[in-house]
Amino acid sequence: MPNRFKAALHLHTTYSDGELTLEELKAHFQKQGFQCLIMSDHAETMNPERMEEYAARCRALSEERFCIVPGLEFAYPFESGSLHLLGYGINEYQREEEPVKMIETIHRLGGVAVLAHPYPPLMSRIAPMKGSLDGIELWNTKYNGRLAPALWNYQLLQEVRELRPEVLGFYGTDFHWETQYAGMAVWIEAPQLAPASLMAGLRSGRFYAEKEGMRLTPDGSLTPDQKASFERREWLYRMWRKTVVGARGPFKALRLPVPRRLKAIARKVL
Ligand SMILES: [Zn+2]
Ligand SMILES: [Zn+2]
Repeated sequence: MPNRFKAALHLHTTYSDGELTLEELKAHFQKQGFQCLIMSDHAETMNPERMEEYAARCRALSEERFCIVPGLEFAYPFESGSLHLLGYGINEYQREEEPVKMIETIHRLGGVAVLAHPYPPLMSRIAPMKGSLDGIELWNTKYNGRLAPALWNYQLLQEVRELRPEVLGFYGTDFHWETQYAGMAVWIEAPQLAPASLMAGLRSGRFYAEKEGMRLTPDGSLTPDQKASFERREWLYRMWRKTVVGARGPFKALRLPVPRRLKAIARKVL
C-alpha cells in the first residue's frame, strides 16, 4: 500500500491577499488533519527576492509530519475577464507576458501548470493553452461554491482529454479567509511527505479529491447520480449567490460598508 497524504490545494496567505500568515495557515489546516499544503499566492505581489523568502518560509515550516509546497497564481487580465494560471511547486519567481509562455516557464521551473476556475467568456484565451496545460481546476470551492462544481469545467476537461488524455482535473480550496469553507481534501499518493514526491504524485494523477464522503477523480469522470445532483445544486447555488450579491448591491452602489453579518454570509457563499 503506498502512502497517502491529505492535502489542500490552491491557498493564499498574507504574502498576497489572504488573511492568515503561512504559520497560521499551517495551524488552521493541521487542526483539521491535513498533512500538506500546495500553495498558490498571487504572483502580482511577488518579486524574485520576496519569492525566495516565501519558498524559504515554506521549507522552514515543513517538518517530518507536515509539508508546505510553494507555488504561485498568475493573473492575465483580458477585456472578457481575468484568466488565472496556477504554477504549483515552483520555488522561483519568473513572469511571462503570455499564458502559453508562462506554462513553458512553469514547466522549466519544475512545476505543474493548472488553469484555475475556468470562466466561459475566456474560452478563446484558454484555447491556445490546451496544448500544454497539465490540468484544469474542476472544482474550486470558493469560486464555484461548496455545493457543486461548474459542469462546464468538466466539459472543458473532457474536450482537452480527447486530444491529450494526460491532462488532469484538479480540486482547489482557493483559501483566503479563516472562516472560509475548507472541506475539500486531496489525497496524494506519494512515497514520502516531501515536495518532489508530492508533486510527482500530482503530475501523474496519483490523487483523488474527497469531500464529505464523496470521491472525485482526476480523470473528471462522474457517476450519473453525481452529475444529476451537481446539476440541481449548481442551480441552487446560482440562486443563492444572486440573492446574496443582490442584498449587497445597494450598499456597494451607495459606497456604504456592507454590514458585518451580510459580509459574513457573503464570504460563506462566494
Ligand atoms: Zn484565481
Ligand atoms: Zn486563488
